[in-house]
Amino acid sequence: MSYARLKRRLSILALTLDAAYLALLPLSGLALAWEQQMAALSLPWAAAVSLYVTGLALPWTWVMLPLDFYRGFVVEHRFRLSRESRTAWAVRWLKIQALAGLLMLAMAVALSWILRASPAYWWAWMALVCLVGSIALTQWMPVVLMPLFYRQRPVDRDELGERLRRLAQRCQTPIQGVYEIDASKETSKANACLCGLGSTRRVLLTDTLLSRYTAEEIEAVFAHELGHHRLHHLPQMIAVSGLSLAAAFWVMAQALPGGLRLFHVQGLQCLAALPLLALGLSAVGLLLTPLQNGISRSLERAADRFALEMTRAPRAFIAAMQKLQEQNLAEPNPGRWVEWFWYDHPSISKRVAMARQFEGSH
Ligand SMILES: [Zn+2]
Repeated sequence: MSYARLKRRLSILALTLDAAYLALLPLSGLALAWEQQMAALSLPWAAAVSLYVTGLALPWTWVMLPLDFYRGFVVEHRFRLSRESRTAWAVRWLKIQALAGLLMLAMAVALSWILRASPAYWWAWMALVCLVGSIALTQWMPVVLMPLFYRQRPVDRDELGERLRRLAQRCQTPIQGVYEIDASKETSKANACLCGLGSTRRVLLTDTLLSRYTAEEIEAVFAHELGHHRLHHLPQMIAVSGLSLAAAFWVMAQALPGGLRLFHVQGLQCLAALPLLALGLSAVGLLLTPLQNGISRSLERAADRFALEMTRAPRAFIAAMQKLQEQNLAEPNPGRWVEWFWYDHPSISKRVAMARQFEGSH
């Protein structure tokens, strides 16, 4: 089985198991029983919410560890995409779980507070809180979160640094800097991204990209990232996710009260409503995925067009795409359903076709 297909099947398996656990909590009565335990302790509400969520989420994190290890370590090694040690993988896994756990606790506490403060419009307030939170996270990403995992070093290889600076000037995109990150310690895959907001905005290129690509190919990838910046794609994606969140919370506000009664949960304010709320949000999120991916793919196409117009080097763009496909074991031609649910970038064959078309018309 191909790498891409195996990874996809494993992500479906993980998603299904998570959903099954969230459904089992109310069905088995565990969600209610655990709420009664919290009531017996008579803790302050924020402490009760935190303990309730931790008590249900933490054991599940450890139940999922073998699958996480298989997906993130065994498969990557089997396809020779990683030489990371078990210890390094374990440390990274712990860091990710700790961050995800903190984020989940913050969301649960915010939700409980908002549900009490504004029972009628909680869905709108919650979407606003998530939007502000995601803006803060985007801003902190390069300066607070990324340094927990990677070292960043300004790209100062004389000639390349100079070329990239000139290209950024030509694209009228002042950015805070171009940095290399040491991704090779965990993967041989190559990647690039525009990261941060405002004063923290920068282009990050992995060392696996910088060491294997020609200056022209790196310029093509870099120009694509500048395109995201120039065309204001980050604020647009934040707006899209804000609207999706508002839609998801609104659907929950309409659908949940009826569903809760089936499980003898008094109302949304009850702790026992949290697992069902999480399940509902994942379901609506899944339904919105094709739409979000479709919007993302159209922004990626615009960034590709921008890169081709600014560099006027379709051959280098095509060469970079082909290298990325080989190096990252990407599928050249995913099926339509697969594209809807898994591809926030157009497939490599479509990106190459666009560059060929550009080459033919210029
Ligand atoms: Zn992109």
